[in-house]
Amino acid sequence: MNTGSVTLVGAGPGDPELLTIKAVRAIRAATVLLVDDLVGDGVLRYARRSARIVHVGKRGGCASTPQAFIEKLMAAEALKGERVVRLKGGDPFVFGRGGEEAEHLRAQGIAVEIVNGITAGLAATTALGVPLTHRAHAHGVMLVTGHARGDDASLHWPTLAAAAAQGLTLVIYMGVSTVHELQTGLLDALPPQTPVAVVQHASLPQQRQAVGTLGGLSTLVHQHGLGSPAIIVIGDVLRGLHHTLPAMQPMQQERAA
Ligand code: SAH
Repeated sequence: MNTGSVTLVGAGPGDPELLTIKAVRAIRAATVLLVDDLVGDGVLRYARRSARIVHVGKRGGCASTPQAFIEKLMAAEALKGERVVRLKGGDPFVFGRGGEEAEHLRAQGIAVEIVNGITAGLAATTALGVPLTHRAHAHGVMLVTGHARGDDASLHWPTLAAAAAQGLTLVIYMGVSTVHELQTGLLDALPPQTPVAVVQHASLPQQRQAVGTLGGLSTLVHQHGLGSPAIIVIGDVLRGLHHTLPAMQPMQQERAA
């Protein structure tokens, strides 16, 4: 049978140099590319000229393409024999519905390959020069979404804060629109001086970041006009940033004391 294939490719956080070699190979081989919003433009330079490129994000103010349509289109093109690449921001299996897409395709007997990408949470902390699991400060990391699915109970931030207080760095995706709510919940079990950082457009030339403390998190986001796409990082691993960050002087004093 002349069934094509679908490869879910992680396009990384935006900088095309952060693509894997495997991703570049898949993009070069693709005859059809379905491209998400958060995929950096530079990534598409590897597509062949004859490839059909379908943007399925919200760019240009259009409503985003419904997920069911994207899944149908991928399956239909693969069944026609096309080599379909689904380009997704960051890693295809870290938020962003890669799991749902793979299940849908496999249920129809279509082979799916996954190519990892550098997830935004990692790119954001690297952009800050901060190790996510510096052993002096953290035993691990929690990657969480600040934007729960409508039909899910939303995250219980005080519980997450209690885990973070045990030495787990919190990396929050899609959190800027609910920053006030998550800040309030986290303050339940974390001290207001806990370091926080917000990184928008990590790895891209327009990258911006701000650093402060949990007590001032939503003010920080609003003062700096930080919006989506952004990652919020919370935890003691950010303490290493004190020398670059005026907002963190209180912590320096604390340390010196
Ligand atoms: N699969 C993606 C995440 C998709 S969810 C990944 O692994 O990175 C979309 C969220 O990812 C955004 O709301 C934002 O929180 C984050 N994000 C994606 N690209 C980003 C970037 N370049 N800088 C900061 N955050 C980013």
